[in-house]
Amino acid sequence: MPSVWNWQLGRSMDYVYSESRPEKQVSAVFDINKCIACQTCTMACKTTWTSGKGQEYMFWNSVETKPWGSYPMGWDVKLLESLGPASWDYATDPPRYSGKTIFEKVPDGERVLGFLPEEMDYAYPNRGEDETSGNIEDTPYHLSVPQAIWTFYLARICMHCTYPACLAACPRKAIYKRKEDGIVLIDQERCRGYRECVRACPYKRTFYNHTTRVSEKCIFCFPAVEQGIWPRCMRNCIGKIRIVGYIHPPAESDPRNPIDFLVHEKGLALPLYPQYGLEPNIYYVPPIHSDATFNRQMFGPRADAAVRTYRRIREGLEPELRAVLLLCVSTDKILGRFELIDDPVQGETAVGYDTQGVEVVRVPFVEPVVERPFHDAALDVYRHNIS
Ligand code: SF4
Ligand code: SF4
Repeated sequence: MPSVWNWQLGRSMDYVYSESRPEKQVSAVFDINKCIACQTCTMACKTTWTSGKGQEYMFWNSVETKPWGSYPMGWDVKLLESLGPASWDYATDPPRYSGKTIFEKVPDGERVLGFLPEEMDYAYPNRGEDETSGNIEDTPYHLSVPQAIWTFYLARICMHCTYPACLAACPRKAIYKRKEDGIVLIDQERCRGYRECVRACPYKRTFYNHTTRVSEKCIFCFPAVEQGIWPRCMRNCIGKIRIVGYIHPPAESDPRNPIDFLVHEKGLALPLYPQYGLEPNIYYVPPIHSDATFNRQMFGPRADAAVRTYRRIREGLEPELRAVLLLCVSTDKILGRFELIDDPVQGETAVGYDTQGVEVVRVPFVEPVVERPFHDAALDVYRHNIS
């Protein structure tokens, strides 16, 4: 098998095809701390792409409660049991993965270590919703939830991986990664519904359609992305947890690019289960109130540092991070560059530019407040100030 470089593992690894990175790679950052599990993203996607026959149990975007929720049932736990605990060598910088990936711990005669979920595994999206990591003691006013109790919401779409397992496993070569933006798509004409992609994808983000008898998956709303606009699930996010952009490999990181800044420069946003070895391109700001060991298992060895960085934003110590987080929830245009300026009128202000360098958004750190007189003598009207 060819050897390819996976920067998330800090080492080369085996992959079915030679390394071939796209000209640009779409990416997104999800801030878990802001997700309220409203499922607006899920429904935005469902009504756009998966409302047809055979798609009833198909959710290209789903949101589950961790630690107990999952869709399809046990998608991560089942694979983690086959792969074993993740082991990282912390002596190197960045830490190096010393275990095996799903391309390296592969059974004889197969290309990827995976499993095919049962049909019933898709029947209960987010079973275990709002179940916490432990039992809350029965207290009269629910004021004394112990620190050890935690829960968080994990929103997931296709990761548009650099080394997609779905693509590697497809015997028909029906799955391809677009050169121009790294979006991974299934050619519906070539697919014969063998479900090798469903078996191989560790995130279980390809779905078999029993009516059309071919597989389908998230297309990262490429018609919108081609216009410089965010995908539907991202635009409609109520919690504004999502940031869309393009990512470079770490050696080519651009510190003014919002995604590079969050992922490479600050290490705030981390891949989900990097030990699988796919170099996924959706990144997560890990939850700051959950168990640190659980975070490390799910987001890799840099989870503790990311939580510390996030806390510093609240303390006012990371103005540029604050600028990026503010900007990227104030537009639905894909940003290529950001800067923090000291505006003579509005003070500290975050400014965002699209991928052509045109300014598309400007957000002051502190919104101006105007208090109007209760009685407007010119118009002879009374006004209440509301916020
Ligand atoms: S998340 Fe799964 S479906 Fe998406 S590109 Fe990666 S392997 Fe393929
Ligand atoms: S719309 Fe946003 S806040 Fe609501 S569940 Fe989806 S990701 Fe979470």
